[in-house]
Amino acid sequence: LLEYAVSEVTEKKVNFLGYTKAQWEALLEQLGEKPYRSQQILKWIHHRYIDDFADMSDISKRLRDQLAEIGEIREPEVITEKVSTDGTRKWLIRAESGSAMEMVFIPEDGRGTLCVSSQVGCALDCSFCSTGKQGFNSDLTASEIVGQVRIARKVLEKVYPDRVRAVTNVVLMGMGEPLLNFDNVIAAVELMMDDLGYGISKRKVTISTSGVVPGIYKLIETTDASLAISLHAPNDELRNQLVPINRKYPIADLLEACKKYAKNLGEKRVITVEYTLIDGVNEQPEHAAQLAKLLKDFPCKINLIPFNPFPGSGYKRPSSVAVRAFQDRLIGAGFSVTTRTTRGEDINAACGQLVGEVADKTRRQEKYQRIAAGAV
Ligand code: SAH
Ligand code: SF4
Repeated sequence: LLEYAVSEVTEKKVNFLGYTKAQWEALLEQLGEKPYRSQQILKWIHHRYIDDFADMSDISKRLRDQLAEIGEIREPEVITEKVSTDGTRKWLIRAESGSAMEMVFIPEDGRGTLCVSSQVGCALDCSFCSTGKQGFNSDLTASEIVGQVRIARKVLEKVYPDRVRAVTNVVLMGMGEPLLNFDNVIAAVELMMDDLGYGISKRKVTISTSGVVPGIYKLIETTDASLAISLHAPNDELRNQLVPINRKYPIADLLEACKKYAKNLGEKRVITVEYTLIDGVNEQPEHAAQLAKLLKDFPCKINLIPFNPFPGSGYKRPSSVAVRAFQDRLIGAGFSVTTRTTRGEDINAACGQLVGEVADKTRRQEKYQRIAAGAV
């Protein structure tokens, strides 16, 4: 009996925040309930932001009690929220692992983009990315990924009461490599696109990958969300240095996988190619020419990102003249090219500047400090 009681206490409750429609339907069937209840429950959770089953007034008391016994609706905890002079917002959010991740909201005329994290840290160690420099800490759960959208929606509804929707776009371009946390990302993306969830169009939910090729093939089977790839170099030699996963999955394999994924998207939807411009590294005229040749038969939009510096990166942002020249060369070659304006720099919210807060690292640092102080 004691053993049973102990396991009762220590057993973790299911966090229903990340439960998709299909998961709800399966559970409700097991509980002998009608599948349409899933619609009522999802609306309570994602449209009305209810955290307590007791408040779900159109659900039977019996079912509410059952659900409360096995699970809970738990949003990740916001540690801090910062607002930039340009209106960009950055939240530091506690993950279950104890570390923290970051999420950014970028308001623009007529639209608002939420940049969410999929992992704390990242194992892929791209040479120009501060998230990569901190190493991998943990995967985020589906609840923690979709929970970011819920947190932002709740705040922004108050900040922008006149807008029907402040968050029009979601990009998985925060911390982490989404395709290395596949199942949780897919569940969260499904909820973002579901009308019973956040109802964001599949065109406006974008998964960004550094090139995890098997993950792209898995995506073909699972979703038709938009896809962006982080190319950053027009040849394997240079890409091997900047994006180390290229040594495993070279450019030709990556583009082939993308072409197959693009078939999923249908007419008029193309893959986005992200290209971070780093001074003296990948922004010369010959790089633009090589890139134009490489992408000649690949329908895509190119998004240039001027490098965002962080301490110790060793890289510099090119001048705006150089960025413009690179863009013009590609436009001249017939591509559709945009340059991402840097936003939220005063609060370190720009691409590649997200570091969160790693509990272990902090502990490690404390230990080093103690060693340095001669205490250990
Ligand atoms: N791991 C995924 C998504 C997160 S990074 C990926 O790599 O695609 C989002 C984008 O920001 C990627 O294109 C990434 O390469 C880019 N990025 C990373 N560090 C950057 C920096 N310091 N300056 C500009 N862009 C950066
Ligand atoms: Fe990871 Fe993306 Fe940063 Fe590379 S750019 S280290 S894949 S988060």
